[in-house]
Amino acid sequence: MNLAINQDRLLSEIEALAQISDAEFPAVTRVVFTPTDLKARTWLRAKCSEQGLAVRQDAIGNIFARWTGTDETAAPVATGSHIDAIPNAGKYDGVVGVLGGLEAIRALQHSGFRPTRSIELILFTSEEPTRFGIGCLGSRMLSGALTAEAARRLTDASGQPFERVREKADMHGELELVQLKSGHFHAFIELHIEQGPLLERAHVPLGIVESIAAPASYQLIAEGTGGHAGGVLMTERKDALCAAAEIILKVEEAALASGSPDTVATVGICDVFPAAVNSIPSRVRLTLDLRDTDLPRRDKVLSTIENKSRHVSEKRGVSIQFQIINADAPAICSSAVTDAVIRSCNKHNLPFQKMVSRAYHDSLFMSRITPTGMLFIPCRNGYSHRPDEFASPEDISRGTLILAETLAELSH
Ligand SMILES: [Zn+2]
Repeated sequence: MNLAINQDRLLSEIEALAQISDAEFPAVTRVVFTPTDLKARTWLRAKCSEQGLAVRQDAIGNIFARWTGTDETAAPVATGSHIDAIPNAGKYDGVVGVLGGLEAIRALQHSGFRPTRSIELILFTSEEPTRFGIGCLGSRMLSGALTAEAARRLTDASGQPFERVREKADMHGELELVQLKSGHFHAFIELHIEQGPLLERAHVPLGIVESIAAPASYQLIAEGTGGHAGGVLMTERKDALCAAAEIILKVEEAALASGSPDTVATVGICDVFPAAVNSIPSRVRLTLDLRDTDLPRRDKVLSTIENKSRHVSEKRGVSIQFQIINADAPAICSSAVTDAVIRSCNKHNLPFQKMVSRAYHDSLFMSRITPTGMLFIPCRNGYSHRPDEFASPEDISRGTLILAETLAELSH
């Protein structure tokens, strides 16, 4: 099989999609279910139809474009990613996996290859949490990690109920039907930019992901006693912000002590009440984002943080409440998929590096229902989620070629 990736066509499509944006080129803003997102979806569907793919859309807007295989009863092999973009982002995050996936299918079609299993390109709805506060909405529902009932309870950043937003976007159908059974797909592979600097630093063109770290987020409320900043003596205070400050440092300490660079913990929000210059803080809200590739280790770090917070609480007479916002399990990639990727890399004498994905992706949820793999390409300086995000044309076509060959092997 001789596969030719049409680099010019692929790049011009990446540019064309970047023009469908609410930010000025080259910045990309494409928030899910906005008119701009819907326009981009229509554009993509037309591209898929032009290629003879059968396009279907589920009730949450996940799009499936199928190249039917010779055995229509066999579980399909899937690839894909997302095209929604956070405000003022770049052109490549997610897009490389969607348009690269389409180009991979075209190259296979052009070569005369006929898959036994169908090959399906998936566009996942709302990988970014921008609008509904929860990431991977489409793949999360597809895998059953988010129920229809829980989805209906979501509201967007402006308070609009999820169902209202969906209706306005002309998305219909029962949310209960979005979930796909384990075994529905034979395998899934996602091509993505690394969003980190490691491949570029190592001068390696491809990364093969072995595991995907998963975030857990928590909310901490510290409740102390407020009062006049002049009137209340230092020895009498129950300052909620002082307690929160101690806890933030305990968070850093616990993550550093885990013994693995894969443990990362961040307190990204600190809301102080009443936030007045002459008033002792009576209440503080912190958010904690804790990530790891190893679930027991993540749990251990969390319980260390909880214990130390309890200690701070007793010492300072400030009550501290922990609340889980969301805790997803990390994923291990399937060796059946990664071995196929490695065989393709070896065939072309392409060096690769096995790695961990520290950001989460739709693959995290796909791995719950099907053997899953991820293929990374370098991005300049590791920049992502900003307008100067860049992946080189050569790296994009190389990744697409390896993706195409892997799809061919898995669908054979
Ligand atoms: Zn992405």
